[in-house]
Amino acid sequence: MSRILFELSTPGRPGFALPAGGPQGTARLGDSKLRQDAMGLPELSELDVLRHFVELSTLNHSIAAGFYPLGSCTMKYNPVLNENLAGLPGFAGCHPGQTPETVQGCLELMWELEQKLKAVTGFPAVSLQPVAGAQGEFVAMAIARRYFEDRGERRELVIIPDSAHGTNPASVAMAGLKSVTINSGDNGLVKLESLAEALNDNVAAVMLTNPNTLGLFETEIRAIAKLVHDAGALLYMDGANMNALTGRVHPASLGFDMMHLNLHKTFSTPHGGGGPGAGPVGVTAELAEFLPGLRVVRGDDGFRANPASKAIGSVHGANGNFAMLLRALAYIIRLGGDGLKDVSGGAVLNANYLQARLRDTLEIPHDGLCMHEFVASGRSLKPHGVRTMDVAKRLLDFGMHAPTIYFPLIVPEALMIEPTETESLATLDEFVAVMKQIVAEAAEDPEILLKAPLTTPVGRLDEVGAVKNLLVVEPPTGEGEGS
Ligand SMILES: *Cc1c(COP(=O)(O)O)cnc(C)c1O
Repeated sequence: MSRILFELSTPGRPGFALPAGGPQGTARLGDSKLRQDAMGLPELSELDVLRHFVELSTLNHSIAAGFYPLGSCTMKYNPVLNENLAGLPGFAGCHPGQTPETVQGCLELMWELEQKLKAVTGFPAVSLQPVAGAQGEFVAMAIARRYFEDRGERRELVIIPDSAHGTNPASVAMAGLKSVTINSGDNGLVKLESLAEALNDNVAAVMLTNPNTLGLFETEIRAIAKLVHDAGALLYMDGANMNALTGRVHPASLGFDMMHLNLHKTFSTPHGGGGPGAGPVGVTAELAEFLPGLRVVRGDDGFRANPASKAIGSVHGANGNFAMLLRALAYIIRLGGDGLKDVSGGAVLNANYLQARLRDTLEIPHDGLCMHEFVASGRSLKPHGVRTMDVAKRLLDFGMHAPTIYFPLIVPEALMIEPTETESLATLDEFVAVMKQIVAEAAEDPEILLKAPLTTPVGRLDEVGAVKNLLVVEPPTGEGEGS
């Protein structure tokens, strides 16, 4: 177990040396303003600190460490070029509170990114402000609500298929609306009859993920859009799976009225540990006046950031996570339109390759041509006393992250596998070999799966316990009581 810096500290061995008599200028401050006792910071040499952080960086799995087929999350390579650009002093040092004259270059880049995202989605207006996919969903639902209020209509329901991401109903509730779930058909797609039945003049919007969370394209999307619009409702696209479509189709042309993009999925910005992300929202011309926050416009006298006329408000400061937006812009410019087309082509090809090679190893309930991901089931392992969770843990022993598991909810013992376009054939083949070995182990030596992972810094955790008991380290007695 790694020790923390305070435990590694050796008093009297700091990693720096101050000039005799204290740092320059401190004498002028006078004794009363100077700290009299030591700060109690850990004392370590520079090399010790370096080793400590390098070691910490190896304790968690990451895309830099190995394959990461976490379905729906699009864990693709985040180009180092993006990092270098975002770290340039002119970008890193600017502040959202600066006056427009002093940040013209930054505003121009935000304007340019909006143009690029318009070209990708086909929508005439995009807000860069939302900082997560879920926040983009919330923004869209708030826009739907405001749009109907503005027309003097009261609509409070949002229809969501049962395959949807959990953030969808949560965003609906956050926006003060109510969600209605419709069941998918046997083919995993939206059933037109179920949708028609659920639609009425109290429905504000329908939220669809396309391709859906099974990795299947909603082929009836135009008929769906017609049904929704005939009922006077808006059609929203959860665009988290845009990696399957970039450069191929404009969601706006499929009949959607609004969508969000996850820049930290499709456009290669880092996911971080829950952030900072970016979830820009694109809308039709009719809905543009409701977009949140500031939007950059180009005028005769340069670039300005203005609020929309009926903006729903702000969901973050200024233009959102500026440094993330920069990274995404760098990625888009570097690839260009043809490059973005290659992204979706590669993503879909890699997923289909894995699906084809794993077909005889794992059950694939909605088998057929998939988009950028597919969902397998670990149900057939149950007779050996092995569950999908055990397969996921065992993968870690081979230096690979698990696929997304137990989601979507409509597939029992689900394993949602998304290789992304940035992995080589050799890596995909290695994953296939490892999965075959694990499935063989399930029959021959299930104990090893139940004990896995055996090679990671921490072994099997009590996950339910960890969620229910947030206090993982007991405070020393007498301290921290009730705090
Ligand atoms: C990731 C994801 C979301 C939520 O996006 P965040 O950026 O994590 O908030 C919503 N829907 C789907 C289908 C997703 O995969």
